Amino acid sequence: MADKKDIRALTKEQLRNFFVAQGDKAFRGNQVYEWLWKKSAHSFEGMTNISKETRDMLEANFTINNIRVDQMQRSTDGTIKNAVKLHDDLVVESVLIPTETRTTACVSSQVGCSLDCRFCATARLKRMRNLNPDEIYDQVVAIDNQSRLYHDRPLSNIVFMGMGEPLMNYNNVLKAIEMITSEEGLGMSPKRITVSTSGVPKMIKKMADEDVRFKLAVSLHSAIDEVRTAIMPFNSTFPLKDLREALEYWYAKTKNRITYEYVVWRGINDSQKDVDALVKFCKFAPSKVNLIEYNPIDDGEFQQASDDALNRYITTLEKNGITVTVRRSRGKDIDAACGQLANKS
Ligand code: SF4
Repeated sequence: MADKKDIRALTKEQLRNFFVAQGDKAFRGNQVYEWLWKKSAHSFEGMTNISKETRDMLEANFTINNIRVDQMQRSTDGTIKNAVKLHDDLVVESVLIPTETRTTACVSSQVGCSLDCRFCATARLKRMRNLNPDEIYDQVVAIDNQSRLYHDRPLSNIVFMGMGEPLMNYNNVLKAIEMITSEEGLGMSPKRITVSTSGVPKMIKKMADEDVRFKLAVSLHSAIDEVRTAIMPFNSTFPLKDLREALEYWYAKTKNRITYEYVVWRGINDSQKDVDALVKFCKFAPSKVNLIEYNPIDDGEFQQASDDALNRYITTLEKNGITVTVRRSRGKDIDAACGQLANKS
């Protein structure tokens, strides 16, 4: 049957009701739900405490649309990039990033991206579709397994910074996080999850209203509208004024510090005027600025700024009481670094 329903699209309640409608016990739904999420079963056949007859019935009605790690590349620095094949043969990428103390999974939320940041390799792929909650969840499970296998420890953190704009796939991203943090799923703390957005004001406000517990990061890259629109054209639709207003709302509601992701490019945003605008933009709430080393995707206009320019950012931000970190790029040799995910493997 070509169009069997993905069983993980069902809530626990729906699964329980399904079994009742089949003349079975609702409890059977709990058992199957546990296999599907907590035990990450890839087939009905492997559900050993379910009778053969029930497994066959499930097989006849549903499919389990697991992802498959199609290709895995390991960097000399321990970073692992996965090309992940989805049930419809589309491919996304996810990355394991190890440091001394933690292992972070960088996961994708869309196939391609709805936005068009000019410095980003993913933007060159057009958006094909949103990922389902289970496809996001499976990326995390796959990286957790790799972390245990290659780094002898479980996954500790998750960032939504892979392919796609997570807030353009809001419902599925939130459902995935619900399962990742649920005791019926992976039981991870929401404090270890960061959703990174290019800044969709309406959705930031919605998240604030829904009292979410994970962290928010904003890929800002410039606090001057003309500059930001030139590198992130959707800024003309969602200008900085609206973004700032949404972030003020977020902070008022959550009291959570905001992280800004920021790359400094030569000749684009490396002047004192750019630094001053950033300070002015983020001073309203406790903020942290991550200055990210850039990985050129070609020899075009986007090149890493000089150390002097970076130091100017660091000194000015610190003088104004804004926490600043410099994030060296990881996995460059396998094109796994930020903005480099483009299904090249
Ligand atoms: S930087 Fe992020 S939001 Fe922008 S195009 Fe790339 S994947 Fe999309």
